[in-house]
Amino acid sequence: MFQNIQRNTPIEHIGVKHGVRIDMKRLDQIHPYISGNKFYKLKYNFLEAKQKGYTSILTFGGAYSNHIAATAYAAKQYGFTSVGIIRGEELVHQPLNPTLNFSHQICSMQLSFVSRATYKERHTLSYLEELQRKYPNTYIIPEGGTNTFAVQGCKEILTDHDLQHYDVICCAVGTGGTLTGLIESTSSPCKILGFSALKGDFLKQEIRQLTQKNHWDITDDYCFGGYAKTTPELIEFIHMFEHEYNIPLEPIYTGKMCYGVFNLIHKQYFPKGTRILLIHTGGLQAKSSLM
Ligand SMILES: *Cc1c(COP(=O)(O)O)cnc(C)c1O
Repeated sequence: MFQNIQRNTPIEHIGVKHGVRIDMKRLDQIHPYISGNKFYKLKYNFLEAKQKGYTSILTFGGAYSNHIAATAYAAKQYGFTSVGIIRGEELVHQPLNPTLNFSHQICSMQLSFVSRATYKERHTLSYLEELQRKYPNTYIIPEGGTNTFAVQGCKEILTDHDLQHYDVICCAVGTGGTLTGLIESTSSPCKILGFSALKGDFLKQEIRQLTQKNHWDITDDYCFGGYAKTTPELIEFIHMFEHEYNIPLEPIYTGKMCYGVFNLIHKQYFPKGTRILLIHTGGLQAKSSLM
């Protein structure tokens, strides 16, 4: 399973600004429709599910979730049925957006729309037990896919070459699984910088539970008000970036991360000679609905 992600993903040179070298690792090119980091997060979850004899995979997400689309695709690819618990009851009566249409029509994921109140229960034992009864023989993956299996997979994102050639590695953060994998596969003096797509610093606490290491930091300075929020300035930056470098970004994760890195470089936050690797985590499947 997941052999297709073992191949090296390309690294592209973006440019040199204020003496800082910027390259980008294109995980978005792993698959035309599926978000780059999500394959790494799913790999060991699916291997575990297969090994334990489960026949179905269940997970959680919002209506534009890259994780839902990736899970639906991987389930179909590897012979599982799948269930998506989707936030927002009102969506039952609406036509499916491209993310949900792909997951349901093309990948045969069964969609279950739940109220926001029910969705909030997604980490509680009683709700998980209820789901387990309702969907027997089903392996449950948490929202965003983040658990120890996800971290194990994300430790495979960087190659030995990457470990030797970069001083700073930058990545967008949602639930923190990807960042933790990057942290766990590197060590000081390499620095891992996370750009949070969400407001607040609770992610710092969560990542501290997943790793002992401390050559990393997270900022929410570039979350543009919170998850899935945008400003005309962010959208303009994404258009500029795409025009200048011919690399697509989306406004929830990679657009904010690249904006943040460029802003820090502009403020001369990084010493001259720093070599930065940006991780393009994909997420382009929902882009047409978002901007
Ligand atoms: C899910 C996602 C992230 C966040 O990954 P986490 O491991 O949840 O922090 C970043 N970028 C894109 C494009 C994503 O789809």
